[in-house]
Amino acid sequence: MAIVAGNWKMALGVGESVELARKIASFASDANYPHTEIWIAPSPPCLGAVSPIVQNTPVKLGAQNAHWELKGAFTGESSVPQLKELGCSFVIVGHSERRHIFGETKGDIAKRAHRALIEGLTPVFCVGETEKEREDGKTALIIAEQLSPFLELIKETSSYANFVVAYEPVWAIGTGKVANVEQIEEAHGVILDLLGEALDKTSIPVLYGGSVKPDNFSEIISIPNVSGALVGGASLDSEKFRKLVEIAEERA
Ligand code: PEP
Repeated sequence: MAIVAGNWKMALGVGESVELARKIASFASDANYPHTEIWIAPSPPCLGAVSPIVQNTPVKLGAQNAHWELKGAFTGESSVPQLKELGCSFVIVGHSERRHIFGETKGDIAKRAHRALIEGLTPVFCVGETEKEREDGKTALIIAEQLSPFLELIKETSSYANFVVAYEPVWAIGTGKVANVEQIEEAHGVILDLLGEALDKTSIPVLYGGSVKPDNFSEIISIPNVSGALVGGASLDSEKFRKLVEIAEERA
């Protein structure tokens, strides 16, 4: 099963989000994509309005972050129970914008993902190196440093298999630069090795993210250890997003 997940970031207003969700729900319901899951993550103020649009359609709703506590004095944060109440079934954690713009630490990101996991919200755990880290030959090390605190926490969790990892090289996000096949294959191999060492089973989907577009996705989704994509820019255009879903479906 492939996953094509759209991260809408803070790009759209409430009305625009509803409009885009309608178009995506419509193509997802009209066509049959038995091998591809369609996920969308609107920004928090849009979740309530988008939720009824995708309810009872093949489109899964998700959030862009969640706090590790269930409730309390955490201004500006969303809790996992709140997101579930809104109809979310997944949550993105550790996106590079959270790490690099908002200074979220590896430990806090692990706690966010762990809370989501134990409350039954699938975390999409993002990892990825900066351009400098790649140039310095540190890609594998950075991925291990980002993923390990989460893997440590979930060792004690019985439902540990229900999460997704997204490999998103920071230098490829929103830049138009795409990692090449060798770079993606290698990074996904590192992630799958880490998962294999930490967990009994390694059926965790690993998505690629970073300037995925219809004209480069066929090559990316053909890489055997790629299970789909986390998409920013191209997920805001329903036609491009539909094309990505169709490309994923063709591979299956
Ligand atoms: C992202 O923000 O997760 C992302 C991959 O963005 P883009 O597709 O625009 O590079």
